[in-house]
Amino acid sequence: MENENRKVLLSIRDLKQYFPVKKTKLREKQRYVRANDGISLDIYAGETLGLVGESGCGKSTLGRTLLQLYPQTEGQVIYHKDGKDIDLKSLPKEEMRVLRKDLQLIFQDPYSSLNPRMTVGQIIGEGLVSHGMFKRGDPAMKDYIFKVMENCGLDTYMFGRYPHQFSGGQRQRIGIARSLALNPSFVVCDEAVSALDVSIQSQILNLLSDLKEKQNLTYLFITHDLSVVKYISDRIGVMYLGNMVELAPTEELFANTLHPYTEALLSAIPVVDEDDKRERILLEGDIPSPVNPPSGCKFHTRCRYCQQKCKEEVPEWVDVGNNHFVACHFPLKHKE
Ligand code: SF4
Repeated sequence: MENENRKVLLSIRDLKQYFPVKKTKLREKQRYVRANDGISLDIYAGETLGLVGESGCGKSTLGRTLLQLYPQTEGQVIYHKDGKDIDLKSLPKEEMRVLRKDLQLIFQDPYSSLNPRMTVGQIIGEGLVSHGMFKRGDPAMKDYIFKVMENCGLDTYMFGRYPHQFSGGQRQRIGIARSLALNPSFVVCDEAVSALDVSIQSQILNLLSDLKEKQNLTYLFITHDLSVVKYISDRIGVMYLGNMVELAPTEELFANTLHPYTEALLSAIPVVDEDDKRERILLEGDIPSPVNPPSGCKFHTRCRYCQQKCKEEVPEWVDVGNNHFVACHFPLKHKE
């Protein structure tokens, strides 16, 4: 789908993730939540790809599906490693377990993602032992954990402390240390700073950027906050109701917004400049049900530019140049 000469780390092809809805006496026909409804894109080695959209648009599901925490219903996720193309879904369980070290997740909620009965040293060490990087009790493991803690801005005296003894920002640093200690190549950061105060958010974003450079990481950065994603991402993908509707390098997306949904999201970013008289576009109504999405363009029920064609025909995913892709029958020409 994309024609860059950069090294592709993950290829996602027509990915569908449908979850069955429980049948009732009134509705016996099996219905599905279409969390991801045919997504195709490449993720390049070393980039940060931001993924934005309202709650329920399927961005977290996509992140977890790429890590095979939910095996996809249809489509392919190909991981390119050491010259091999590995189809993650068809990988035997044991091989997937070995590969899991490469593909890590940083959770949203630092309060609930850490075991309260384990010390920081045990939390970070657990994965190292289970992935065979160290034997339990190996003195070298402690030195390694100290190094990881220092890299993540944690003092080594915290090694024997429990999660409840830390602030939110420090707990998120522990979560990051736990994931990055395994030397992954691809990390999904799922709303990784959303639960933190704004001042702490910037510290964690800077830490993630530094670690990316040091460890040559590739991030999928999932958030509903466009100002955060603008700061950290090389490219941004915009999702609506299970589909990618626009994808472009960050500067290009902000300078030349083409999809009406992206336009509405960007207009909602708070500004401090009094002279900035941007129109705030309010999207009417709630996001429709992913069980029974609207016909044609799924966004047509909330789009202020909707025309008859939008209600009948699904817009194609079009390459408009500059690595900019959009799915809209009537893309906006240029942002004012
Ligand atoms: S295809 Fe039509 S309804 Fe959908 S975003 Fe474009 S203009 Fe709006």
